[in-house]
Amino acid sequence: AKSRGRANYQFFDPALAQSAYTALVMESRLVQAIERDEFVLHFQPQVRCSDQAVVGAEALIRWNHPERGLLLPDAFIPFAEQQRLMWPLGQWVLREAVRSAKRWQAAGLGATPIAVNLSTVQFQAMGFVEAVERVLHEEGVPGAWLELELSERMLMDDLPEVRAKLQRLKALGICISVDDFGTGYFSLRHLKELPIDKVKIDRSFVQDLPHAPDAAAIARALIQMALSLGQDVIAEGVEHPAQRDFLAAHGCEQLQGELISPPLAAAEFQTWLVQQRA
Ligand code: C2E
Ligand code: CA
Ligand code: CA
Ligand code: CA
Repeated sequence: AKSRGRANYQFFDPALAQSAYTALVMESRLVQAIERDEFVLHFQPQVRCSDQAVVGAEALIRWNHPERGLLLPDAFIPFAEQQRLMWPLGQWVLREAVRSAKRWQAAGLGATPIAVNLSTVQFQAMGFVEAVERVLHEEGVPGAWLELELSERMLMDDLPEVRAKLQRLKALGICISVDDFGTGYFSLRHLKELPIDKVKIDRSFVQDLPHAPDAAAIARALIQMALSLGQDVIAEGVEHPAQRDFLAAHGCEQLQGELISPPLAAAEFQTWLVQQRA
């Protein structure tokens, strides 16, 4: 323990060696996984508070690993971001999301907008807007079927530049939402100056509703802030009826969470849609 700070000891740190090895293995496996088509999207429904009507779904990536089973994004997205694989992976997600929306439309289930999570690597890349436009064009899908979820951090970089980029996306008909709203350093000014359509109240505020006074005050303030600027509000991670009731009573318009449905594989989501629309 006394030599903790010394580089030569760290070199032999088995935990560190293990993690470097893991990163290396992960890198080559992720490249293979894209080639072998091992990624899948799951879809979590989003519904309107007032009548439970489906308003869309969030696409959530999973890795169907041949030996380790279905892996959640936290197990591989951080590696992909470090290894610059995020661009091809992000492009795959966009195309797959848009194709899924097209399949549901073709199945007679109507337009179901799909919300796609973006990574900083994608949003900051040159040619991002063009790449999105290309996917929509090639798949023959209107921009209105696509929503992009960006974190507060991604939106705070260079305000004029971010604003211009968002405006170009919005010109394609795409809806812009702020993910994990309330967890970053976003201010009223950001909310006002950026062309944002929707905010997603983070699960950490939702989980302690309705009884924890702090969570209740924060949730109410976040909802009011967004509503007063004309933005839509959705709450994520809604698990209990009491949370839903509190949110609805305070003006939150849309809900997402296990109370409505966990994320579903594409075929299951289609079945869920059929039941909802029956
Ligand atoms: P997120 O965008 O905040 O997504 C919501 C997470 O909450 C998802 O975890 C979802 O499965 C989970 N969740 C949904 N309802 C409930 C609930 O009622 N209770 C609880 N406790 N959890 C709920 P998941 O799928 O593991 O995704 C984790 C994160 O990975 C996402 O957080 C998102 O930041 C990232 N991610 C997912 N898909 C993609 C993707 O395609 N691209 C990028 N760049 N990131 C992604
Ligand atoms: Ca999200
Ligand atoms: Ca979120
Ligand atoms: Ca979250």
